[in-house]
Amino acid sequence: MNTSKDKNIVLVGGGHTHALVLHAFKAEPLQDAHVTVINPGKTAPYSGMLPGFVAGHYTREDLDIGLAKLSSDVGATLVDDRAIGMDQTRRKVLLESGETLDFDIASVDVGITSRMDALPGFAEHGVPAKPLAAFSSHWDAFRRSAGTKNVVILGGGIAGAELAMAMAHALRNNPATVSVKLLDRSKILSSNSKTAQQRIRRELSKNSVEIIEGADVVELTATNVALADGTRLPANFVVGAAGATPHEWIKNTGLKLVNGFLEVDETLQTSVSGIFAVGDCAHMSFDPRPKAGVFAVRQAPVLTSNLRRALSGGQLLSYTPQSDYLKLVSLGGKRAFGEKNGWALSGRLMWWLKNKIDRDFMNQF
Ligand SMILES: Cc1cc2nc3c(=O)[nH]c(=O)nc-3n(C[C@H](O)[C@H](O)[C@H](O)COP(=O)(O)OP(=O)(O)OC[C@H]3O[C@@H](n4cnc5c(N)ncnc54)[C@H](O)[C@@H]3O)c2cc1C
Repeated sequence: MNTSKDKNIVLVGGGHTHALVLHAFKAEPLQDAHVTVINPGKTAPYSGMLPGFVAGHYTREDLDIGLAKLSSDVGATLVDDRAIGMDQTRRKVLLESGETLDFDIASVDVGITSRMDALPGFAEHGVPAKPLAAFSSHWDAFRRSAGTKNVVILGGGIAGAELAMAMAHALRNNPATVSVKLLDRSKILSSNSKTAQQRIRRELSKNSVEIIEGADVVELTATNVALADGTRLPANFVVGAAGATPHEWIKNTGLKLVNGFLEVDETLQTSVSGIFAVGDCAHMSFDPRPKAGVFAVRQAPVLTSNLRRALSGGQLLSYTPQSDYLKLVSLGGKRAFGEKNGWALSGRLMWWLKNKIDRDFMNQF
């Protein structure tokens, strides 16, 4: 029960770190605090299983972390809404519905977006890969619809390549015409190791994904993707998978930003005491890392401790991001590519391992 001496902790966003924090509060309940979680929707997709869902190996239920149950298990309130700003002086979160929520301590874990606002036609005809929930729903509807399937993925990083193979796999037995194209303005997979590039290029080809490099996309329409050289690629499902863009509203927090991301120190605290940020929306100036779910997951125990310590006035713990981690990329069918510390392996064994890690992650909830 919330009493007047209770402090208010507001968790903005149901990203991976916050889901794990709620899970930890179940094992060891918080004293003298009430937790509120703000998230658009009662579930949040787990990124590790997204390509498997797109390929048809997992159901939507497999993919979704149940935030409503996690919240009710720990007596937290889940608010189905969207943050649009923060008044850090009066310690309030502003919501899209017009409501405000008071907080003593807050944490932001809202991920990023892969919207391509500068590209004409993207707002009307493109589907950003992130946020994952809206993307998953759009894909599910498209996959089930009848007719020609011309898919174009904009952005040939690892996420774009993984999605391209998953989509090609899902559509391989489609009775209508199917094409899957992966476009990059320079070379695909340019931030990956030479081994990853070679093996994943081979797998893209096995999945009949057409790679178009040096592509300068100038416009999307309802039926095609237009390139600067005049080429028009037929397209009725265009995915934005290029880059990581911070949510616009984060500018309205008054917190210190680096390229639009919330700057945090080793304790995961932003420029204002008692306001934390984690996952993709945070920028770890002390030791910057690429945007990846593994960091969001590893931040969870530190954030859990620091929320408790912030309540009691204790000294905050520091988070140290790992320098390398096991990268597992699914390859369309039930096969995966794994790479860590210079070794690499692909095939069914890697899929077995990836599936086990991802299922174990989800089973804890
Ligand atoms: C196709 C693909 C595959 C990937 N595979 C991997 C992988 O295998 N391994 C890996 O490490 N990383 C992977 N990633 C990266 C991974 O998705 C992210 O790093 C991870 O999801 C970050 O988690 P997060 O905690 O920042 O929040 P997210 O998982 O992004 O969740 C953010 C939550 O905040 C909510 N939210 C958004 N806006 C608001 C708002 N205004 N108010 C309140 N709530 C809001 C969202 O609805 C969502 O529930 C992949 C990404 C993609 C696109």
